[in-house]
Amino acid sequence: MRKTSSMLGMAAAGAVVLYGAYSYLQRRKEKQTNEIINDIMKEMEDANVFIRDPVGLREKLKAFLEGGAEKMQCIADFDGTLTRGSFKGEKAHSSFAVVARSALLPEDVEKKEKELQAKYYPIERSSDKTEEEKFKAMTEWWKGIFEILEEGGFQKQMIPEMVKNGTSVLREGGLYFLQRLDKEKIPLLVFSAGIGDIVQEVFVQQAADSTSKLLDNITIISNYIKWDNEGNMEGIKGDILHSSNKGEFPAPLNYKDAVKGRNNILLLGDNFGDAEMLNCVENAETSLNIGFLNDNVNELRKNFEQLYDIVVVDPESMTLVSVLLMKLLDKK
Ligand SMILES: [Mg+2]
Repeated sequence: MRKTSSMLGMAAAGAVVLYGAYSYLQRRKEKQTNEIINDIMKEMEDANVFIRDPVGLREKLKAFLEGGAEKMQCIADFDGTLTRGSFKGEKAHSSFAVVARSALLPEDVEKKEKELQAKYYPIERSSDKTEEEKFKAMTEWWKGIFEILEEGGFQKQMIPEMVKNGTSVLREGGLYFLQRLDKEKIPLLVFSAGIGDIVQEVFVQQAADSTSKLLDNITIISNYIKWDNEGNMEGIKGDILHSSNKGEFPAPLNYKDAVKGRNNILLLGDNFGDAEMLNCVENAETSLNIGFLNDNVNELRKNFEQLYDIVVVDPESMTLVSVLLMKLLDKK
């Protein structure tokens, strides 16, 4: 009897020690997490960064730190988000402008494309148009531009040179961001309302792996050109994906498979409709939305702050986002 009770006593003492060690480790881990979050918030103390809800952001960062690379996926817009909004003081090329403003196509293609841009861009960036008005206008804009490119004689074999001579250029810090995601095997869905063929070529020229192929972790959803046997443009494949209907396109099946169990979503965009990219996956638990505000800052900042946890006013760099990713993954 005495022996039994002393054994029980020892077991209880052992449990207390174990619990003590466990709770010590938990407290230490929590302290480390808080230190990293403080560190990240400090990085964000920048005149060009706006955060509407710092407490909510801290909660999200905590979920990302606890989940690590295995729980993370990234969904990003392309034009003006992974690429620059401006380059050397000029508005940078979108994937459309890379084609339309290329010297390989007749001059009137550029003229017509600029006319469309002048008409529809203010609507796309307006904060007082209804969703229906934007949807209608964007559908017209996208149909118009594909017609112009097709009539202008766009050919598949022109793409490498067009991209080489264009100004669709990854943001400063963008290469690190892409390579780090790839290294950590974090799937990246590039969700672009631009031209998929151009998006892919920009990655191949500016962020390829050693075999000049698209990085393994990247999936692109976009408008792909339909080519005839001679490589002439013949419309596009599938429905038009424009800047106001991103919420209606599901992610490709291979991407959905790759992101099973990855419930922490890092979302990057530079437009109103980009926040809706979240609709394309079903398993979002925590989404950390980062929005780049490339122009109309005074008019759009408050609207962007409603859509994005972190708003970065910088048309050329994403270094801050790369630092954020690094701190989330290095955990120190
Ligand atoms: Mg964009």
